[in-house]
Amino acid sequence: MMPMRDFRYTANPARVLFGPGTRGALRQEVANLNCSRALVLSTPEQADLGNETAERLGALAAGTFDGARMHTPVRVTRDALARAEAIGADCVVAIGGGSTIGLGKALALRTGLPVVAVPTTYAGSEMTPILGETEAGEKRTLTDARVLPKTVIYDVHLTLTLPVPMSVTSGLNAMAHAVEALYARDGNPITTLMAKEAVGALARGLRAVAHDASSVAGRGEALYGAWLAGTCLGSVGMALHHKLCHVLGGSFDLPHAPTHAVILPHAVAYNADAAPQAMAHLAQALGTDDPVAALADLAREIGAPMRLADLGMPADGVQRAAALATQNPYFNPRPVTEQGLLALLRRAYDGARPLGT
Ligand code: NAD
Repeated sequence: MMPMRDFRYTANPARVLFGPGTRGALRQEVANLNCSRALVLSTPEQADLGNETAERLGALAAGTFDGARMHTPVRVTRDALARAEAIGADCVVAIGGGSTIGLGKALALRTGLPVVAVPTTYAGSEMTPILGETEAGEKRTLTDARVLPKTVIYDVHLTLTLPVPMSVTSGLNAMAHAVEALYARDGNPITTLMAKEAVGALARGLRAVAHDASSVAGRGEALYGAWLAGTCLGSVGMALHHKLCHVLGGSFDLPHAPTHAVILPHAVAYNADAAPQAMAHLAQALGTDDPVAALADLAREIGAPMRLADLGMPADGVQRAAALATQNPYFNPRPVTEQGLLALLRRAYDGARPLGT
């Protein structure tokens, strides 16, 4: 029987340049935005890359700010705002992972300055209108089209320095965006196409990168998957997996990408029976009959962390996390119960196989 199609699809505007060496086009892209005084953002760890980027921009760079931090602390944003004002910036170049791009988005929200994002991880923030900010220990998440970068430059060469363990966890973070897009309440045929392509590309790319960190082809495949997965994250709502990771990160300070890597197969196992169409897509994308087992096997093969216990989760936190994750009702294909989450989290805590595999 042919499916009855009924959907809404909103595309987020962005110009995307993808390939090895594309950062060579940065100067021209800044000029295309009619800008000539760029503020270049980075983390302290990538300060050299920020300086090198400013040098490449030459007269189009007005200064750098290398204070970007995880979870976009508002106090850091204030410092960056002061710097932007002091140098008379007319655009922002954010080069780095989700933390640096988050800072670029926070500046765009407050100033309206256009952002050119140059991602160096697989987190996908550059393709989403979502911004999570922290202040006084509280995390606020907002969705606002003003934070979307105008131009995104994916240069595969910039990902070669991402250490393999970070590549693996960041890539599985991206995989989670694509997987949850397959059973999103507001899913549509375009995001499903992108999600399936993302899952396949990430699986191939991450295997290649885990085997050989310097494989430009493998890096390219992983980054291509990350772009598509980020687009999915920016287009449709996420479910149980993202909710759980949000709780674990926010309440137990667990690291962002490794937490996604541990939880993914367990969250998919929880939802599998309630989302048969999504599982069929996932099976096809992974070339398997059992997508939950395939996700768990992939994670093991590429050396991903398997246990929440290894990420600093306290044993007595499992019960509290299960309770917190059921607090604000949100969409999930299978009803979310505290008992169900407790079983899921216990397995994830110990590194047991996902339920049913
Ligand atoms: P990150 O940006 O925090 O980077 C982690 C570390 O790796 C930093 O020290 C960084 O400088 C370094 N690094 C990044 N790329 C590198 C490279 N190629 N080579 C060597 N070192 C490199 O990590 P992330 O996982 O990309 O981002 C996590 C943050 O992004 C979190 O705060 C998360 O909430 C946010 N995020 C937001 C969205 C969104 O849509 N709003 C989506 C995904 C993630």
